[in-house]
Amino acid sequence: RQLRVALMGLGSYATRVAEAMESCQRAKLVGIVTGTPAKAEAWKKKYNIPDKNIYNYQTVSQLKNNPDIDAVYIITPNSLHHQHVMQVAAAGKHVICEKPLADTAKQAQEMITACEKAGMKLYVGYRLHFEPHTREVIRMREAGELGTILFVDNTCGFKIGDPTQWRLKKALAGGGALMDVGIYAINGARYGTGEEPLWVTAQEIKTDPVKFAEVDETITFQMGFPGGAIATCSTTYNFNNLGRLYVVGEKGFAELDPAFGYGPIKGRTHKGPLNQPVITHQTAQMDGLAECILDNKPDPNMTGHEALRDMKVIDAIYESIRKGGQKIMIG
Ligand code: NAD
Repeated sequence: RQLRVALMGLGSYATRVAEAMESCQRAKLVGIVTGTPAKAEAWKKKYNIPDKNIYNYQTVSQLKNNPDIDAVYIITPNSLHHQHVMQVAAAGKHVICEKPLADTAKQAQEMITACEKAGMKLYVGYRLHFEPHTREVIRMREAGELGTILFVDNTCGFKIGDPTQWRLKKALAGGGALMDVGIYAINGARYGTGEEPLWVTAQEIKTDPVKFAEVDETITFQMGFPGGAIATCSTTYNFNNLGRLYVVGEKGFAELDPAFGYGPIKGRTHKGPLNQPVITHQTAQMDGLAECILDNKPDPNMTGHEALRDMKVIDAIYESIRKGGQKIMIG
Protein backbone atom coordinates (compact mmCIF):
# COMPACT_ATOMS: atom_id res chain seq x y z
CA ARG A 1 0.00 0.00 0.00
CA GLN A 2 1.19 3.53 -0.76
CA LEU A 3 0.80 6.69 1.32
CA ARG A 4 -1.55 8.92 -0.67
CA VAL A 5 -0.36 12.50 -0.25
CA ALA A 6 -1.83 15.91 -1.10
CA LEU A 7 0.58 18.85 -1.39
CA MET A 8 -0.59 22.21 0.00
CA GLY A 9 1.05 25.35 -1.47
CA LEU A 10 2.32 24.73 -4.97
CA GLY A 11 5.41 26.97 -4.94
CA SER A 12 9.03 26.26 -5.70
CA TYR A 13 9.73 23.68 -2.98
CA ALA A 14 6.44 21.85 -3.60
CA THR A 15 7.44 21.61 -7.26
CA ARG A 16 10.71 19.95 -6.24
CA VAL A 17 8.91 17.60 -3.85
CA ALA A 18 6.38 16.59 -6.52
CA GLU A 19 9.15 15.80 -9.00
CA ALA A 20 11.02 13.78 -6.38
CA MET A 21 7.86 11.88 -5.49
CA GLU A 22 7.67 10.55 -9.04
CA SER A 23 10.48 8.16 -8.01
CA CYS A 24 8.85 7.12 -4.73
CA GLN A 25 7.88 3.50 -4.10
CA ARG A 26 5.75 3.98 -0.98
CA ALA A 27 4.37 7.54 -1.35
CA LYS A 28 2.22 8.88 -4.15
CA LEU A 29 1.05 12.40 -5.02
CA VAL A 30 -2.72 12.12 -5.36
CA GLY A 31 -4.06 15.56 -4.40
CA ILE A 32 -3.36 19.30 -4.18
CA VAL A 33 -4.43 22.34 -2.18
CA THR A 34 -3.92 25.60 -4.05
CA GLY A 35 -5.43 29.08 -4.19
CA THR A 36 -4.51 29.51 -7.85
CA PRO A 37 -6.90 27.92 -10.39
CA ALA A 38 -4.25 27.98 -13.17
CA LYS A 39 -1.89 25.93 -10.98
CA ALA A 40 -4.69 23.48 -10.20
CA GLU A 41 -5.20 22.99 -13.94
CA ALA A 42 -1.49 22.55 -14.69
CA TRP A 43 -0.85 20.13 -11.80
CA LYS A 44 -4.02 18.18 -12.57
CA LYS A 45 -2.70 17.50 -16.07
CA LYS A 46 0.93 16.90 -15.10
CA TYR A 47 0.22 14.54 -12.19
CA ASN A 48 -3.09 13.07 -13.30
CA ILE A 49 -4.91 14.36 -10.21
CA PRO A 50 -8.65 13.69 -10.11
CA ASP A 51 -10.96 16.70 -9.61
CA LYS A 52 -12.27 15.27 -6.33
CA ASN A 53 -8.71 15.54 -4.87
CA ILE A 54 -8.26 19.22 -5.73
CA TYR A 55 -8.85 21.69 -2.88
CA ASN A 56 -8.36 25.38 -2.22
CA TYR A 57 -7.63 27.10 1.10
CA GLN A 58 -11.35 27.54 1.82
CA THR A 59 -12.22 23.87 1.30
CA VAL A 60 -9.49 22.21 3.40
CA SER A 61 -11.98 21.04 6.02
CA GLN A 62 -13.71 18.93 3.33
CA LEU A 63 -10.63 16.70 3.23
CA LYS A 64 -12.28 14.81 6.08
CA ASN A 65 -14.81 13.40 3.59
CA ASN A 66 -12.11 12.13 1.25
CA PRO A 67 -11.00 8.56 2.03
CA ASP A 68 -8.48 8.63 -0.86
CA ILE A 69 -6.04 11.03 0.80
CA ASP A 70 -3.98 9.87 3.82
CA ALA A 71 -1.70 12.82 4.45
CA VAL A 72 -1.20 16.48 3.56
CA TYR A 73 2.27 17.94 3.05
CA ILE A 74 2.12 21.65 3.97
CA ILE A 75 4.63 23.71 1.94
CA THR A 76 3.27 27.21 2.45
CA PRO A 77 5.03 30.31 3.89
CA ASN A 78 6.19 29.74 7.47
CA SER A 79 3.65 31.84 9.35
CA LEU A 80 0.78 29.97 7.70
CA HIS A 81 2.00 26.58 8.95
CA HIS A 82 0.20 26.92 12.28
CA GLN A 83 -3.28 27.53 10.83
CA HIS A 84 -2.75 24.97 8.06
CA VAL A 85 -1.58 22.21 10.41
CA MET A 86 -4.54 22.87 12.70
CA GLN A 87 -6.93 22.62 9.71
CA VAL A 88 -5.40 19.42 8.35
CA ALA A 89 -5.37 17.77 11.78
CA ALA A 90 -9.02 18.72 12.25
CA ALA A 91 -9.77 17.11 8.89
CA GLY A 92 -8.27 13.86 10.22
CA LYS A 93 -5.24 13.58 7.94
CA HIS A 94 -1.61 12.89 8.81
CA VAL A 95 0.55 16.00 8.54
CA ILE A 96 3.93 16.61 7.03
CA CYS A 97 4.83 20.29 7.45
CA GLU A 98 7.80 22.21 6.15
CA LYS A 99 10.36 23.80 8.44
CA PRO A 100 10.18 25.90 10.51
CA LEU A 101 7.18 24.15 12.03
CA ALA A 102 5.87 27.40 13.51
CA ASP A 103 6.77 30.97 14.42
CA THR A 104 7.19 30.12 18.11
CA ALA A 105 7.51 27.14 20.45
CA LYS A 106 4.04 27.93 21.84
CA GLN A 107 2.48 27.55 18.40
CA ALA A 108 4.48 24.36 17.77
CA GLN A 109 3.14 22.86 21.01
CA GLU A 110 -0.44 23.68 19.95
CA MET A 111 0.14 21.95 16.61
CA ILE A 112 1.56 18.84 18.30
CA THR A 113 -1.39 18.71 20.67
CA ALA A 114 -3.91 19.10 17.81
CA CYS A 115 -2.34 16.26 15.80
CA GLU A 116 -2.11 14.00 18.85
CA LYS A 117 -5.76 14.65 19.76
CA ALA A 118 -6.77 13.82 16.19
CA GLY A 119 -4.66 10.64 16.30
CA MET A 120 -2.59 11.90 13.38
CA LYS A 121 1.19 11.86 12.89
CA LEU A 122 3.05 15.16 12.61
CA TYR A 123 6.38 15.22 10.79
CA VAL A 124 8.51 18.20 9.75
CA GLY A 125 10.45 18.26 6.48
CA TYR A 126 13.95 17.87 7.95
CA ARG A 127 14.97 15.92 4.84
CA LEU A 128 18.60 15.46 5.99
CA HIS A 129 17.52 12.80 8.48
CA PHE A 130 17.21 10.52 5.44
CA GLU A 131 20.49 11.72 3.85
CA PRO A 132 23.24 9.06 3.95
CA HIS A 133 26.28 11.29 4.78
CA THR A 134 24.32 12.93 7.60
CA ARG A 135 23.17 9.51 8.78
CA GLU A 136 26.79 8.30 8.81
CA VAL A 137 27.95 11.21 10.98
CA ILE A 138 25.12 10.48 13.41
CA ARG A 139 25.99 6.75 13.36
CA MET A 140 29.65 7.48 14.09
CA ARG A 141 28.75 9.78 16.94
CA GLU A 142 26.30 7.27 18.42
CA ALA A 143 28.84 4.45 18.08
CA GLY A 144 31.37 6.50 20.05
CA GLU A 145 33.76 6.77 17.09
CA LEU A 146 34.11 10.53 17.63
CA GLY A 147 34.42 10.17 21.41
CA THR A 148 32.83 12.71 23.72
CA ILE A 149 31.66 15.63 21.60
CA LEU A 150 33.46 18.84 22.54
CA PHE A 151 32.68 21.35 19.84
CA VAL A 152 30.31 22.03 16.95
CA ASP A 153 30.71 24.75 14.32
CA ASN A 154 27.67 25.03 12.05
CA THR A 155 26.85 27.63 9.44
CA CYS A 156 23.91 27.93 7.07
CA GLY A 157 22.97 30.88 4.92
CA PHE A 158 22.56 32.30 1.44
CA LYS A 159 22.17 35.64 -0.34
CA ILE A 160 18.49 36.31 -0.71
CA GLY A 161 17.28 37.69 -4.05
CA ASP A 162 13.91 39.33 -4.82
CA PRO A 163 13.35 42.01 -2.14
CA THR A 164 9.54 41.68 -2.49
CA GLN A 165 9.35 37.97 -1.52
CA TRP A 166 7.49 36.67 1.55
CA ARG A 167 10.75 35.58 3.22
CA LEU A 168 11.47 39.26 3.94
CA LYS A 169 8.01 39.96 5.41
CA LYS A 170 7.65 39.16 9.09
CA ALA A 171 3.90 38.48 8.86
CA LEU A 172 4.51 35.56 6.49
CA ALA A 173 8.05 34.48 7.40
CA GLY A 174 7.92 34.76 11.19
CA GLY A 175 11.59 35.81 11.12
CA GLY A 176 14.51 35.96 8.74
CA ALA A 177 17.57 33.85 8.04
CA LEU A 178 17.39 32.20 11.46
CA MET A 179 13.89 30.83 10.88
CA ASP A 180 14.55 29.83 7.29
CA VAL A 181 18.05 28.31 7.32
CA GLY A 182 19.60 28.97 10.72
CA ILE A 183 17.30 26.20 11.85
CA TYR A 184 19.58 23.74 9.99
CA ALA A 185 22.51 24.86 12.13
CA ILE A 186 20.43 24.36 15.28
CA ASN A 187 19.10 20.97 14.19
CA GLY A 188 22.65 19.99 13.11
CA ALA A 189 24.09 20.97 16.49
CA ARG A 190 21.46 18.77 18.13
CA TYR A 191 22.17 15.72 15.97
CA GLY A 192 25.89 16.50 16.04
CA THR A 193 25.97 16.24 19.83
CA GLY A 194 22.94 14.03 20.45
CA GLU A 195 21.99 16.44 23.22
CA GLU A 196 19.65 19.35 23.86
CA PRO A 197 21.30 22.74 24.41
CA LEU A 198 21.09 24.20 27.91
CA TRP A 199 21.74 27.82 27.03
CA VAL A 200 22.24 30.18 24.15
CA THR A 201 23.78 33.59 23.54
CA ALA A 202 23.19 35.45 20.26
CA GLN A 203 24.13 38.54 18.29
CA GLU A 204 22.43 40.11 15.28
CA ILE A 205 24.26 42.01 12.54
CA LYS A 206 22.25 44.08 10.05
CA THR A 207 24.15 45.67 7.15
CA ASP A 208 21.07 46.52 5.05
CA PRO A 209 18.34 47.89 7.33
CA VAL A 210 16.12 48.71 4.34
CA LYS A 211 16.02 45.23 2.77
CA PHE A 212 15.93 43.61 6.20
CA ALA A 213 13.56 46.08 7.83
CA GLU A 214 11.22 43.34 9.05
CA VAL A 215 13.40 40.24 9.50
CA ASP A 216 16.87 39.28 10.65
CA GLU A 217 19.75 39.30 8.16
CA THR A 218 22.78 37.75 9.90
CA ILE A 219 22.83 36.11 13.32
CA THR A 220 25.65 34.40 15.17
CA PHE A 221 24.85 32.30 18.21
CA GLN A 222 26.52 30.03 20.71
CA MET A 223 25.07 27.10 22.65
CA GLY A 224 26.17 25.04 25.61
CA PHE A 225 25.29 21.34 25.99
CA PRO A 226 24.96 19.18 29.12
CA GLY A 227 27.96 16.98 28.21
CA GLY A 228 30.22 20.04 28.02
CA ALA A 229 30.15 20.60 24.25
CA ILE A 230 29.81 24.13 22.94
CA ALA A 231 28.49 25.14 19.53
CA THR A 232 29.18 28.25 17.48
CA CYS A 233 26.70 28.86 14.67
CA SER A 234 26.01 31.51 12.05
CA THR A 235 23.20 32.16 9.64
CA THR A 236 22.62 34.84 7.02
CA TYR A 237 20.54 36.11 4.13
CA ASN A 238 23.48 38.23 3.00
CA PHE A 239 26.04 35.91 1.36
CA ASN A 240 26.38 32.54 -0.33
CA ASN A 241 28.56 29.49 0.29
CA LEU A 242 27.66 29.12 3.95
CA GLY A 243 26.53 25.60 4.75
CA ARG A 244 28.92 23.57 6.86
CA LEU A 245 28.53 21.18 9.79
CA TYR A 246 31.66 20.47 11.80
CA VAL A 247 31.65 18.20 14.84
CA VAL A 248 34.76 17.72 16.99
CA GLY A 249 35.04 14.96 19.54
CA GLU A 250 37.80 13.70 21.82
CA LYS A 251 38.65 10.92 19.37
CA GLY A 252 38.08 12.61 16.02
CA PHE A 253 35.96 14.86 13.87
CA ALA A 254 33.29 14.87 11.17
CA GLU A 255 32.79 17.60 8.60
CA LEU A 256 30.02 17.96 6.03
CA ASP A 257 30.48 20.74 3.48
CA PRO A 258 28.10 21.38 1.85
CA ALA A 259 26.01 20.00 4.66
CA PHE A 260 22.50 21.36 4.23
CA GLY A 261 21.70 21.86 0.53
CA TYR A 262 19.88 19.49 -1.78
CA GLY A 263 23.17 17.75 -2.50
CA PRO A 264 25.42 16.21 -3.26
CA ILE A 265 26.37 16.44 0.41
CA LYS A 266 30.12 15.99 0.80
CA GLY A 267 32.18 15.21 3.85
CA ARG A 268 35.16 13.73 5.62
CA THR A 269 36.06 12.51 9.04
CA HIS A 270 39.33 11.76 10.84
CA LYS A 271 39.05 8.32 9.16
CA GLY A 272 38.92 9.73 5.61
CA PRO A 273 36.41 10.91 3.02
CA LEU A 274 32.73 10.05 3.31
CA ASN A 275 31.52 8.28 0.19
CA GLN A 276 27.91 7.48 0.95
CA PRO A 277 25.43 7.23 -1.93
CA VAL A 278 24.09 10.45 -3.39
CA ILE A 279 20.31 10.41 -3.26
CA THR A 280 17.34 12.70 -3.84
CA HIS A 281 16.50 13.78 -0.30
CA GLN A 282 12.80 14.37 -0.90
CA THR A 283 12.28 10.93 -2.48
CA ALA A 284 13.91 9.22 0.49
CA GLN A 285 12.02 11.40 2.95
CA MET A 286 8.61 10.68 1.46
CA ASP A 287 9.24 6.93 1.14
CA GLY A 288 10.64 6.87 4.67
CA LEU A 289 7.73 8.76 6.21
CA ALA A 290 5.28 6.56 4.30
CA GLU A 291 6.85 3.52 5.99
CA CYS A 292 6.54 5.20 9.40
CA ILE A 293 2.86 5.97 8.85
CA LEU A 294 1.82 2.79 7.05
CA ASP A 295 4.10 0.18 8.64
CA ASN A 296 4.53 1.78 12.05
CA LYS A 297 8.30 1.98 11.62
CA PRO A 298 10.14 3.98 14.33
CA ASP A 299 9.91 7.71 13.76
CA PRO A 300 13.01 9.51 12.47
CA ASN A 301 14.12 12.63 14.37
CA MET A 302 11.73 14.81 12.40
CA THR A 303 8.57 14.65 14.49
CA GLY A 304 6.67 17.66 15.78
CA HIS A 305 8.38 17.10 19.15
CA GLU A 306 11.82 17.37 17.52
CA ALA A 307 10.76 20.55 15.73
CA LEU A 308 9.47 21.97 19.02
CA ARG A 309 13.00 21.63 20.44
CA ASP A 310 14.38 23.70 17.56
CA MET A 311 11.63 26.27 18.05
CA LYS A 312 12.57 26.61 21.74
CA VAL A 313 16.13 27.39 20.69
CA ILE A 314 14.89 29.93 18.11
CA ASP A 315 12.73 31.63 20.76
CA ALA A 316 15.77 31.79 23.06
CA ILE A 317 18.03 33.20 20.30
CA TYR A 318 15.60 36.04 19.58
CA GLU A 319 15.25 36.66 23.32
CA SER A 320 19.02 36.85 23.72
CA ILE A 321 19.25 39.36 20.85
CA ARG A 322 16.47 41.46 22.37
CA LYS A 323 18.39 41.44 25.67
CA GLY A 324 21.69 42.53 24.13
CA GLY A 325 23.31 39.08 23.90
CA GLN A 326 22.37 37.91 27.38
CA LYS A 327 22.72 34.18 28.14
CA ILE A 328 19.28 32.57 27.95
CA MET A 329 18.54 29.22 29.56
CA ILE A 330 16.44 27.01 27.28
CA GLY A 331 13.32 25.66 28.96
P1 NAD B 1 7.23 29.69 -2.46
O1 NAD B 1 6.97 31.13 -2.32
O2 NAD B 1 7.91 29.23 -3.70
O3 NAD B 1 5.88 28.86 -2.31
C1 NAD B 1 4.91 29.15 -1.33
C2 NAD B 1 3.55 28.71 -1.81
O4 NAD B 1 2.58 29.04 -0.83
C3 NAD B 1 3.13 29.41 -3.12
O5 NAD B 1 2.59 28.47 -4.01
C4 NAD B 1 2.06 30.39 -2.68
O6 NAD B 1 1.08 30.62 -3.68
C5 NAD B 1 1.46 29.63 -1.49
N1 NAD B 1 0.71 30.49 -0.58
C6 NAD B 1 -0.43 30.14 0.01
N2 NAD B 1 -0.92 31.13 0.75
C7 NAD B 1 -0.08 32.16 0.61
C8 NAD B 1 -0.06 33.48 1.13
N3 NAD B 1 -1.02 33.94 1.95
N4 NAD B 1 0.98 34.26 0.81
C9 NAD B 1 1.98 33.84 0.02
N5 NAD B 1 2.01 32.57 -0.51
C10 NAD B 1 0.98 31.76 -0.21
O7 NAD B 1 8.08 29.27 -1.17
P2 NAD B 1 8.92 27.94 -0.98
O8 NAD B 1 10.36 28.24 -1.20
O9 NAD B 1 8.33 26.82 -1.74
O10 NAD B 1 8.76 27.69 0.61
C11 NAD B 1 7.58 27.15 1.16
C12 NAD B 1 7.92 26.44 2.47
O11 NAD B 1 8.83 25.39 2.20
C13 NAD B 1 8.58 27.32 3.53
O12 NAD B 1 8.11 26.96 4.81
C14 NAD B 1 10.05 26.97 3.42
O13 NAD B 1 10.76 27.13 4.63
C15 NAD B 1 9.97 25.52 3.02
N6 NAD B 1 11.16 25.06 2.26
C16 NAD B 1 11.82 23.97 2.69
C17 NAD B 1 12.93 23.51 2.00
C18 NAD B 1 13.63 22.27 2.47
O14 NAD B 1 14.72 21.96 1.93
N7 NAD B 1 13.08 21.52 3.40
C19 NAD B 1 13.39 24.20 0.89
C20 NAD B 1 12.67 25.32 0.46
C21 NAD B 1 11.56 25.77 1.16
